[in-house]
Formats: sequence, structure tokens, C-alpha cells
Amino acid sequence: MKLIELKKVSKTYPNGVTALADISVPINKGEFVFVIGASGCGKSTFVKLLYREEKPTTGTVTIGGLNVGKIKNGKVYKLRRKLGIVFQDYEIKLLTKLTVYENVAFALECVGMTGKEIRPKVMKALERVGLKDKVRSFPNELSGGEKQRVCIARAIVNDPKILICDEPTGNLDPETSQDIMRVIENINNELGTTIIMATHDLQIVDRMKKRVLIIQKGVLTDDIPPGQYKAPKKEKGEIKKDESSKDIC
Ligand code: ADP
Repeated sequence: MKLIELKKVSKTYPNGVTALADISVPINKGEFVFVIGASGCGKSTFVKLLYREEKPTTGTVTIGGLNVGKIKNGKVYKLRRKLGIVFQDYEIKLLTKLTVYENVAFALECVGMTGKEIRPKVMKALERVGLKDKVRSFPNELSGGEKQRVCIARAIVNDPKILICDEPTGNLDPETSQDIMRVIENINNELGTTIIMATHDLQIVDRMKKRVLIIQKGVLTDDIPPGQYKAPKKEKGEIKKDESSKDIC
């Protein structure tokens, strides 16, 4: 069943830059999909269209039958409640004066739940990301990977159908990135949450064996089924992020 569908989507920003051109792609419920491409190819724009941070210039983005581009600004929160979103910059996404528990609970307080309803949900989300014993810690007492786990717990605490990740491992070392990927993969496997992840980390993409959408200069050039993506050979060495990007674009 199609959960997300982009039909002939183009996005041109007011400065005249066309970030995406004529993208058509269906995504089924429960899929895990990587969106890859060089820096500036349009990955972030792709995911921003899903959570209505941006509207398509032409074409339609549909989520669960809802035309996302047509949602009135005042109603966007209704869409966002159905989505979890994880970003690269976990540092600035956490409220520094709140504990880990409070940071995750905050998302539910915002939707008007009571403390009694909130507690089991927060504890379950923190358990899922492996942070049950850090509930009373403050963000500055956590490692980068732990902070990102808090962000993931906050993103999934209200059982979203879709988890959108924009470079979630971009600020993490390879080992921690792998831990984060395991957490996200478990969410996909155990909860059936559909995952859309923009990333430049081709090593991770190679290892995960999921469906891969390749964007080159705003154009969807490939849609690779699970298990078939192979990172370019030199990517497996010590190539820096910027150099690796050139392989794709
Ligand atoms: P990526 O995530 O792959 O790095 P982006 O989607 O961020 O790519 O950007 C795609 C293109 O759109 C780039 O040329 C970028 O400079 C441009 N762009 C992104 N956001 C904006 C914006 N808000 N206004 C104007 N141009 C933008």
C-alpha cells in the first residue's frame, strides 16, 4: 500500500535555484528508503517536502492520501503529529534545561496528554533507544550518540507512521553512527515505521541493504531495490565526505 507518493514534483526556490525536478516516486508503508546524492543535490529539499517545511512548485506530494502541499499553514501541525523527524544537529534540538525524560515528554505535553498518559510512552521510547537508565540526565551529561538517541526517542514517542531522518549520523563517528542505524532499523523492523533517510554516508547505505533513491542535481536518477546498492569502491577507503560526493553527482 502506497503511504507516500511524489508525482512529477519540482521545487524551485525563490532565488531561482531548482532543487528538485520532475520527481515521481511511490513509497509503501513499512519501507526503509535511503535518499542519497552529493551535497546540494536536493536531499534535504526532498525530505522537507514530506514534512511540509517546503511546498512543491509543481506536482503533488501525498501522504496517506493527503495532499501535503495543499494543507493550510494552520493545519500543518496535524501532519507533523503523524511524523517523527530527526535531524543532524541534535545539539540544538534538545532543551538543555530539561532532563532526558522531560525532553521526550515535552513532545507529548505539546499535544495535550496528561502526565499519566505520558509516562509509559516516554519510558517505552527511551527503552527502545537504549536510554532507560539516563532518564534523569541532562543533555550536557550525554555523548553525541546519546543525544541523538534522545532526539530519536522524542521523534517516535507518539508512534508516528513515518520517521524522517535528515543526515542523522552526519555529526557522529562511524561506530556511533552504526549504533544509531541499529536503533533506526529496529524501529522499522519492530514497529513497522516507514523510514525515509537522507544521508551522504555511502558506507552505511551499502551496509544496510535497503531501497536507495539516488538524486543527481535535483533529478531522481535511480531507484535501487533493497540489497542491490553497492557504494563506489573507493568509498570504502578513507575518502573524505566531500570527495565521496563527487562520485554521485
Ligand atoms: P542537499 O540536502 O542534497 O545538500 P538541498 O536540498 O539542501 O541539498 O539543496 C538543493 C539546492 O537547493 C542547493 O543548490 C541549495 O543551495 C538550494 N537551496 C536549498 N534550500 C534553499 C533555500 N531555502 N533557498 C534557496 N535555495 C535553497
